Formats: sequence, structure tokens, C-alpha cells
Amino acid sequence: MQALNPEVQVTTLAERLAGSRLAEVVAAHDLVLDCSDNFATRHAVNRAAVAAKVPLVSGAAVRFAGQLAVFDARHEDSPCYHCLFPEEGEAGDGPCATFGVLAPLVGVIGSLQAVEALKLLIGLPSPLGQLTLYDALTAQFRHVRVPRDPACPVCGSQH
Ligand SMILES: [Zn+2]
Repeated sequence: MQALNPEVQVTTLAERLAGSRLAEVVAAHDLVLDCSDNFATRHAVNRAAVAAKVPLVSGAAVRFAGQLAVFDARHEDSPCYHCLFPEEGEAGDGPCATFGVLAPLVGVIGSLQAVEALKLLIGLPSPLGQLTLYDALTAQFRHVRVPRDPACPVCGSQH
């Protein structure tokens, strides 16, 4: 990353973030990109982002399917990750090593996340309340409206 972008300062944290340490690190940043591969991490990152009112750009990819969503607790009508994928409703997940993922699909979703991250950082509007689905088999994008859940245990009391 440093070689590609000499003017960017890269700070690595060689630790597993959780609890108050996760909250502290998220609150100290302008934006979070979730590129993790499991629901436990996604929900922990979402809780920290909502609590700190830090925008979250979420990306996921498995097999031939990719997803992108932007959550921003600074906006009253923005859902959070939990509104979209309730923690208690998980059918089960597993790492990409279990299900497999078409390698270039990760690049597609990562590039879409980078676009949204840059837009947020320079103050351009992002598609809040929208889940973007990319099907690599048909090369088609679909968009699904995702309303905020007023009873969401994560963001419901934040507004
Ligand atoms: Zn929520």
C-alpha cells in the first residue's frame, strides 16, 4: 500500500479488536471499511460504528455473489448492518475458505467499497438504505431498498 501510495500513511494494528478497544479505534477514525468474512466481526464493527457515528462501508463476497452497503449513523434515516442482517436471524456463515469465492469478485466488491469510501471522505452523497447485489454469473447488479428498523437494538435508540 505504501509503495502504491507514497503520500499515504499506513498504520497497521497487529491485534484482534474487540470491546472497548474496538470502540476506541473506530471512534478515532473518519470511516470504517468492513472487509471481514464472518458475521460476528461484522456485527461487532457495526455496533462500534453506530455508537461512534462513523460511516461504515460494508462489502461481502462468497461463491459468485457480492454485496455492498453503506451505513451512516450520522443520518437519521440510515439503517445499520443489524437492520439489514439481524444478528439473531443468521442462518449460519463460514469463511470464504469453506464456501469459496471467485477471486476477482473480491476485487469488484473491494473497488466498489473504495468508491463509496472516497465519496464519503470528500463529502459526496452515498446510497444509504440500499443493498447492492452483484451476480458474477450473470454480470448483473440489483439494488434492494433497506429501510431503517425503528426497533433495531443497535441503531434504534441512536436517533
Ligand atoms: Zn440498525
